[in-house]
Amino acid sequence: MAGVSLVCVPLVGKSVEQMLSEMATATAGGADVAEIRLDHLASFEPRRDLDLLLRNRPLPVLVTYRPNWEGGEYEGDDGWRFEALLLAMELGAEYVDIELKVAQEFVDFLSGKRPDGTKLIVSSHNYQSTPSIEDLSILVARIQAVGADIVKIATTAVDITDVARMFKVMVHCQGQQVPMIGLVMGDRGLMSRILCPKFGGYLTFAALSTGKESAPGQPSLSDLLDIYNIKQIKADTKVYGVVGKPVAHSKGPIIHGTAFRSVGYNAVYLPLLVDDFESFLSTYSSPDFAGFSVTMPHKEAALACSDEVDPIVKYIGAVNTLIKRPSDGKLIGYNTDYTGSISAIETTLQVFSGKVPGASLADRIFVVIGAGGAGKALAYGAREKGARVVIANRTYERARELANFVGGQAISLADLENFHPEEGMILANTTSVGMYPNIHDTPLSKPFRQRMGSKAQQSHSPKVELNSVFSLKRKQALKSYALVFDAIYNPTLTRLLREAEELGVTIVTGVEMFVRQAMGQFEIFTGLPAPEKLMRETLLNFH
Ligand code: NAP
Repeated sequence: MAGVSLVCVPLVGKSVEQMLSEMATATAGGADVAEIRLDHLASFEPRRDLDLLLRNRPLPVLVTYRPNWEGGEYEGDDGWRFEALLLAMELGAEYVDIELKVAQEFVDFLSGKRPDGTKLIVSSHNYQSTPSIEDLSILVARIQAVGADIVKIATTAVDITDVARMFKVMVHCQGQQVPMIGLVMGDRGLMSRILCPKFGGYLTFAALSTGKESAPGQPSLSDLLDIYNIKQIKADTKVYGVVGKPVAHSKGPIIHGTAFRSVGYNAVYLPLLVDDFESFLSTYSSPDFAGFSVTMPHKEAALACSDEVDPIVKYIGAVNTLIKRPSDGKLIGYNTDYTGSISAIETTLQVFSGKVPGASLADRIFVVIGAGGAGKALAYGAREKGARVVIANRTYERARELANFVGGQAISLADLENFHPEEGMILANTTSVGMYPNIHDTPLSKPFRQRMGSKAQQSHSPKVELNSVFSLKRKQALKSYALVFDAIYNPTLTRLLREAEELGVTIVTGVEMFVRQAMGQFEIFTGLPAPEKLMRETLLNFH
């Protein structure tokens, strides 16, 4: 049973025609089963509609007629519902779903007339939480007792650790040869929908496309098949993922999933929405969960949870990559933000060595704007390469602390515009200033609004003139740099980079850093060389 979970697409059309068209799309998209939700049909005539739907079905179907007391749209009595479900069975539906609350009545109703070919799924939905393992096991036993062919339990994740209980029950059912669908709804339950082949789940649901979800947290069919490669997930598939909050926007699953697949590495990479890093790690402590990319706000917690760290990590104070050492299960922390950003800058210096005098960072002034996680990684990396580091940060105290730490100089953000002691410097923005949606901001000077204050804006000051004065100062400042880097990757070309480029200054984008830090992670995860071209193209295509 493990390793062959079916992928079922719930149809959301309101008419038979729409449902037939959705079935065709689901078949072409690689679905194994389509769920016909009779309660979604605007005007349902059982004999006419079921005959049309079942006679013309291009793939196996699961017929559900969900009442409103279990989250569906049917408001009538159970007698009518039972008749319609029996008719679906007689017309050859492969699966029929009935809710546990009325399952015994339905089974009694069927007695003596139950067609052989249809599997009966008895389902239970909990839209609030996920019960304990004991309560889930009792639920399984109750569902089995009414004569279900397949047990279906859908609960809700309040925390990502809730999913572990469902996995335990699924594995137990698998050992007992009890076919089970175990799903945990919500963003925090996403992994239950992807890892079901690994833990013996009979079937998982996928939306026909994004926006057509029938339950919270449902991935799309194409994500399930193409990004998570669900058909290749087996019991021994290793689980990796990006741990953060939020994580839905992360490109990690696309880039790592594609890279794993390209080298035939038996692993899946998931977005993991985690609230409490420590409890997540202790819950998923088995070797199945082999390694993680760590993003905001967990990079410092990841350092605290590491058993051992790459020596450089101690100085940077943040871990963005964590693996479980296979020999002893110890957690080893790394930081590939540091290698990713510095190598992106160094490589560009080498490529443009004709234009940028000197191809190395040694003895160059390296100005880092920001003193957070990325700022520390760049400041430390630049120091390691022999650069003279200058830190400018909104909170001056933090700039001073970091500057002391790396043996550099601290300046205020306001001083940055007038800071051009020599030519050929490097400027690296590691703040989020200029990031989507505030794409008109630049860290090199405050936005016009902040400089002028609301009173000045109302005065007769010629805004345009003042703006151009600021632009001129910014231009002068930017011209002293040989290279400008921005850690932001959304947008790829920030205002800071655009203005630098317009002045002929060499630029390096956050996308380049992202690709390189992901390559570093891939190598740590797999021990294999990263497929650089593929990873870069994948990121750019999905950007
Ligand atoms: P962080 O630890 O929270 O640090 C944020 C830094 O930005 C702090 O120095 C903060 O200054 C400064 N800052 C925030 N808002 C500001 C504002 N309105 N004006 C001036 N300064 C401001 O964040 P992080 O993890 O270092 O990430 C920072 C940026 O780097 C993000 O845009 C992130 O997406 C990007 N990043 C990119 C990659 C990549 O692969 N390309 C990797 C990691 C991070 P204070 O000290 O005054 O608060």
